[in-house]
Formats: sequence, C-alpha cells, structure tokens
Amino acid sequence: MVPDGTEVMNANGGALFQGFIDSHCHPFEYGWLKRSVDLRGTTNVTGIRLRLAAGVQRARPGEWVTGMGWDQETMPGGRMPGRADLDDVAPENPVALTRVCGHIALLNSRAIDELKLEGRAGEEYERDRTGRLTGIVKEGALTEALGRIPRSSEKSAADLQSVEAEAARLGLTAMHCILSPEGFREELDALAALDAAGSLSLRYRVYIPPEALDFVEGRGFRSTFSSGMVRLNGVKIYCDGSLGARTAALHEPYSDDPTNTGILRYSDSELTDLVEKVDAKGYQVLVHAIGDRAVEQAVGALSPVAGGGNPRRHRIEHASLLPGDLRAKMRKLGIRVAVQPLFITSDTWAVARLGEERVRDLYPFRSLLSEGVVVSGSSDCPVESLSPILGMWAAMTRGGSTSEESLGLDEALSLYSSNAASNGFDNVGPGLREGAPADLTLLDSDVSGMHPALFRKVGVLATLVNGSLVHSYGLD
Ligand SMILES: [Zn+2]
Repeated sequence: MVPDGTEVMNANGGALFQGFIDSHCHPFEYGWLKRSVDLRGTTNVTGIRLRLAAGVQRARPGEWVTGMGWDQETMPGGRMPGRADLDDVAPENPVALTRVCGHIALLNSRAIDELKLEGRAGEEYERDRTGRLTGIVKEGALTEALGRIPRSSEKSAADLQSVEAEAARLGLTAMHCILSPEGFREELDALAALDAAGSLSLRYRVYIPPEALDFVEGRGFRSTFSSGMVRLNGVKIYCDGSLGARTAALHEPYSDDPTNTGILRYSDSELTDLVEKVDAKGYQVLVHAIGDRAVEQAVGALSPVAGGGNPRRHRIEHASLLPGDLRAKMRKLGIRVAVQPLFITSDTWAVARLGEERVRDLYPFRSLLSEGVVVSGSSDCPVESLSPILGMWAAMTRGGSTSEESLGLDEALSLYSSNAASNGFDNVGPGLREGAPADLTLLDSDVSGMHPALFRKVGVLATLVNGSLVHSYGLD
C-alpha cells in the first residue's frame, strides 16, 4: 500500500538499491583540488610547468599556489621532478604540488625559504648529491609544510558542497570523510555550520587525525553533530605511505629499489599506545597500512583492543599487500578493512615494485570476503574517481585481468552498501527494508546478469537521502 500524498516516480526499468556509500574519501581535499592546479594526466615536466603557470597567473604575488596529481611514473624515465623545474615559473609565489598519492610533495625554492626547511635533516627531506634539498618532501614533512598554508572554513564549506553535488550525481548517499591533519579545524567548522543550516544533502561519517583529538574534545564536537547527517565516528592514523611513492612499509625490499623497505611512521609501542588511547576515548580506529610490514604492525597494535569481536569495528585502510597469514590474524580478531578497487587499475607498476611472487597477495578481495572479513569499498578520492560504479566495476573486472580475486555483482554491491554501512556504524541490513532510512540509489538499467565489463557504463537515474531527491536525471 502506498500512503496518500506519497510522490510516485517511474523507475523506467532501472534497478533500485540501498544507497551507495564511499567508505574512505577526502572530500575536502578533493574540493581543494578542484580549485587548485590539477596535475592529473600530466606526462612530463613541461605539462606540470604549463598548468602551474596558469595557476600562478590566477594568484596574487606571494600567495601560495597548490596543486595535486603529478606522477613521475607517467614521465619519461620515471624521473622525479625537482625544485628547479618550478622556480622560473613561479619566482614570486610559494608552490606545493602533491604527488597523486598524497604522500610526497614538490616545493619550489620560494616555498622552501618561506617554510625555513633548508636546515632540516631526515629522510623526509630529499637531498641531491651536493646535499641541497631537491624540493621533494615526504610524509610528516609534507603534512607540516601544507599545514602552514592559510585556510578558511568558508572555503572548506564551498569545497565540500562542490564535491557533494558530484557525489550525489554518482549515486552516493553517504561518505566516510577523512579530515586532513592540516585543515581539520576549518573542516569541522564547515561541517558544523552546514549541518546547523540544514544544508547538507548527503550523510558524513567523520574521521579525524590524532592531532585533532584535543581540539575536538575541547570544542565538544562529538555532541555538536546530532542531526543524523554528520557523525564523528573515529580517528584515522597513518602507519605507512604508498606503494607508488615506495613509502609503503614492506618486509622485503622493493623489487625495483633493493635498498628500500619503505617508511613506518611509528614504532610498534608508539602505535600501540596511540591506538589504546583513542580506543579508550570510545572512538573507532582507522589505521592506514598498505605494505605487509605496516599491516602487521597495525594488526599488532589493534589486537589488544579488538579482542572479543572488535566491538568498536576498528579498521585497516587499504590493507593492500596481504598474505594469507595476515588475513587469518585479521579474521580472528574481527578487524575490518576498507579497500579501493580502482587502485588495481591504476597500479600499473605493481609487478615492478613487488615482483611476480608478492603481487599475488596484492588486493585479495575475494579471499578476504570468503574468509569472513568485513570489507567495504571506497575511492580514496581524490586519489581515484569518486564513482562507486567504477569502483564496483574494478572489483569485478580487476581492470580486465579477471582472476580468482574478482568479485561477483552481489559482492561488489555489498562493498559499497551493507558492508560500508556496517563499517561506519550504520546498521542497515542488506537490501531494502521497511522502516530503514530511505537512502536509495536508482540505476538506469537492470544490472542483474549484466556482463561485468559493461557495468562501468551504468548511469545513475536518481539518488535519495532520507527520502529526499538529491539527484535525478530524466525521470518523469
Ligand atoms: Zn585516504
């Protein structure tokens, strides 16, 4: 029975699903990227210089110019760009250009001067043979450098809203939103202001960096958000870097860099103490761990607090290189995982980095699911496209090389719906249920029985959050 006054829509033969959820993304960073220099798709230093020049022209003298998305792997010889590549293009403006992975940045000389980095020591500040800084900074040094760039909550709010509109078009009803160590104050203020004004159309499950704990407790943010649209779920801790940047922590050296096993940000005891402190405050813990050495450290740190069924649903983010023994430990402890299927299609250098043998344990989604680990899907946007459709397509096709780790349609859907809900403490069971909040995604075709390769072409006819239409396309 349809109650009186109910709006009726014709689904035109499409398929209706529980709303799709992205369980790990950085919408504020993506919004920032949209208005800064977009370096994605550049294939040489000249391309970087041209786009930077356009960005510099839009900026006032002395104003910071930021950009994101370069990747030395796409450039001739895989050469890392250096400060000298930027200096003549931006003599008056400090410049920070983040690599596509977000774990490395290239600074120009003006930025190095302004941040007073020349005297700094440590592996996070790359130096050339003469001992001069090359402009490449990594991990903690990058966080610190970006943290000194001025921000505002008004700009953060505008950034979020531009991403929210795109997310709704792509069929997302909720995002697990990772706040940045550099901008969490402005980002929290932006979320609070938009929530209080009733201006948010999607749901946000928020994860703060450990540096934000005192600020959040001091400002009482956990009770600020009570509308159901925003909830402060937990704390995200970075344990290592990325495979692309060769900063992910491995047990055995990189196959294409035999002296390098990556970077761990914490000692075992530091990480265990931090996890314990965050858990004791009642937060869910998300540990970013990509290399097998990092995942092992993360599992070790989570094991004292995850025992007894992991009631706080602590997660490992990425968990990319995952041999069977590590998976078994995670399953036993009930540790959950958030994965990014599109990484499979982007990591064209995976065999070079890890070798034929190790690469078999990279992104073992089907093994994880069949062994009983709760796995949710995500984009890590702006690292990958925000589209959950593309994410599901990648989980099913693995970029064309279907293997025993390829997922079926129902499994791929569960990554972005029931499992993502569960991994974010939204206890919506599988499928559509009476009484559940009407967060729904309507696809433009009947996808059951569709060939997985065609799935990437599926469109989104409508997205509803809490019963309200937040996106529709061509509906009567
Ligand atoms: Zn991320």
